[in-house]
Formats: sequence, C-alpha cells, structure tokens
Amino acid sequence: MKLIIVEYPDKKLREKSKKVEVFDEKLHKLLDAMHPFMIRTNGIGLAAIQVNHATQALVLNIPDEDGEQSKENLLEIINPVITAKNGETVYQEGCLSVPSFYEDIQRFETISINYQDRDGNTKRLEADGLLSIAIQHEMDHLEGILFIDKLSYSRRKKFEKEYKRMLKEKRTGGKKE
Ligand SMILES: [Zn+2]
Repeated sequence: MKLIIVEYPDKKLREKSKKVEVFDEKLHKLLDAMHPFMIRTNGIGLAAIQVNHATQALVLNIPDEDGEQSKENLLEIINPVITAKNGETVYQEGCLSVPSFYEDIQRFETISINYQDRDGNTKRLEADGLLSIAIQHEMDHLEGILFIDKLSYSRRKKFEKEYKRMLKEKRTGGKKE
C-alpha cells in the first residue's frame, strides 16, 4: 500500500476520523504500511488521517535512549478514549503534516486511555513523558485539530506567513530553509 502524507493547509486534515468497526485485513494492511512510512519520514507518531484514511487509527514509536525506534516499542492504537488526565507539560512539537515547523505546545503531563488493538481487543494504557504528548497530538488529528491551532493569535499569524513563504519556495523550486 502506497501512502502519501497530507500536508497543511489541505482540508482533509480537518475531517473527523470515524471509529473503526471492522478489524480486518484492510485495517492490518493500513497499519503495516503506516509504521515503516512513519519511520522513513522521521515521525514518532502518525494518524491515519495524515495518510488520507479518516479512521481512528494511530501508530506511535517513541525512540529509546539510543534514538532507536525498535519494533517492540511500536504501539498501534485504535479508537482511543482518554479516561484520565493530569498535570501539565510543555514540549516543542512538530508534525509530519506541517513540515519544518516546531513550536512549544502545552499538554497534559500524564494520561490514561482505553483503546483497541489491531484485532479489536480492549486495552488500557497509562502514558507519561513523550509518549503522553505524542498520543495527545495524534488524538487531536482524529478530531481534525492540528498543533498550530493551539498557538496564540500572534504566533499563528507569524506561522501562516512563514509557512506560505515555504510553500511558495517549494513550488518555485527555490531553496528550502
Ligand atoms: Zn501531527
């Protein structure tokens, strides 16, 4: 399955993802394609909507201390629901759908979620650190929300200007940053 990243300002990213009802071969094929795609594009998390599939499916792979994204740390999260959230933390986030832009975003420090695995089994996860942040970022995608939506008015304006310039340079084949 060939995947292509959907990039801002594509309206597809604003679509709300539907709950997965059938845990079949089609879902498995999508997940199997999403993981290597995310690794190749240097992502630590990817929502299906980012590759044009509006279903509530996420893959996450947080690097270990050596920066390796080993397969055993791969998490596949289907139909997640946050059941508890605590504290606050700020982290410089980026997004595969908003290339070359990073900004400090405030999130809950720890979260608990209920979700399903690729076979539909119900699971529960308590997350902190980068995993907690990444899950919150990816779950926002399921609602059509991007991390840039959380910026202050003035930062957002600055971003739109910088991003527009970057897109223009891309189109004209000019040098990228
Ligand atoms: Zn993202």
